[in-house]
Amino acid sequence: MRNLSAKLLAILLGLAPQIQVQADASEPVLLIHGGAGTLSRDEMTLERETEFRRGLMRALQKGYRVLDGGGTAVDAVSAAIVSMEDDPLFNAGRGAVFTGGGRNEMDAAIMDGETRAAGAVAGVRLVKNPILLAMAVMQDSPHVLLTGNGAEEFALARGIELRPPEYFRTEARWKQLMRRLESTAERAPTPDRVGTVGAVALDRHGRLAAGTSTGGMTGKRWGRVGDSPIIGAGTYAANPECAVSATGHGEYFIRAVVAYDICARVRYQGLEPEQAARQVILDDLVKMGGDGGVIVLGGDGEFSTIFNTNGMYRGVIDGPNRARVAIYLDETL
Ligand code: ASP
Repeated sequence: MRNLSAKLLAILLGLAPQIQVQADASEPVLLIHGGAGTLSRDEMTLERETEFRRGLMRALQKGYRVLDGGGTAVDAVSAAIVSMEDDPLFNAGRGAVFTGGGRNEMDAAIMDGETRAAGAVAGVRLVKNPILLAMAVMQDSPHVLLTGNGAEEFALARGIELRPPEYFRTEARWKQLMRRLESTAERAPTPDRVGTVGAVALDRHGRLAAGTSTGGMTGKRWGRVGDSPIIGAGTYAANPECAVSATGHGEYFIRAVVAYDICARVRYQGLEPEQAARQVILDDLVKMGGDGGVIVLGGDGEFSTIFNTNGMYRGVIDGPNRARVAIYLDETL
């Protein structure tokens, strides 16, 4: 409500020409996630928990530096995501989960809420930071979604950093694949995929942006692509309503068109983003049998994290020295 009340006040005081000035002065916000799933205190060591909290804090600081310096929401989202892609703890970039064939195939998307420009990549294997490639697709190509070898040819042409397959490999993710291959269950237990990363931001000029990056689900086959790079499913931003990044079992998020549905409820029904996210995740998705969550940010700076699992790596920063992170369901940001 902050921008709105500033505008109303300006109108009441006859200061209409200053409305833009008021909006420009709005406090930036950055909200991030590092995946949702079965995250119980019993299965977590203090050391590991501390590492996750540090990784989230680092991403918040990197992204907020951009916003604080007057940078755009899109640049802040990408800076926060790059930080988590470079961190082997998260299932994105270095540390991505393995496919059934023992490879890392990564997906990412970014969307500018102000212009509704979007870029995405799917099934890339050698791109150090898939979010930067998604950004290049958005800013430097006539397309929205590039896949596989073609996306990597484009990366090469645009000077995007590539790395050999070993760079992405971590022992922990390899062991997860081994467990997955030994298991007879069709689907891996949720901890095997937790770690997808995402960010939503509001900059000083009131622009929203959203981005998501993932290695997908452990043991995936046949070039499977999840919701993260699908605009409207795992990633969506539209000013002035909302910006959304999702994490969870992608097949459900695609069919429920989760990110777009949340923003559409805000736009057409006038719901608050949190209310819209609750309906979509806790009513619709649950009924369909899906699990996961979203981070949602409104054009007025109100944010929320909604998930139907017992944990979600998450964090927010809405002012200098105002960064907070959380993991478990019973924690608040
Ligand atoms: N949504 C991602 C996918 O289905 C995975 C996740 O967020 O955990 O590929």
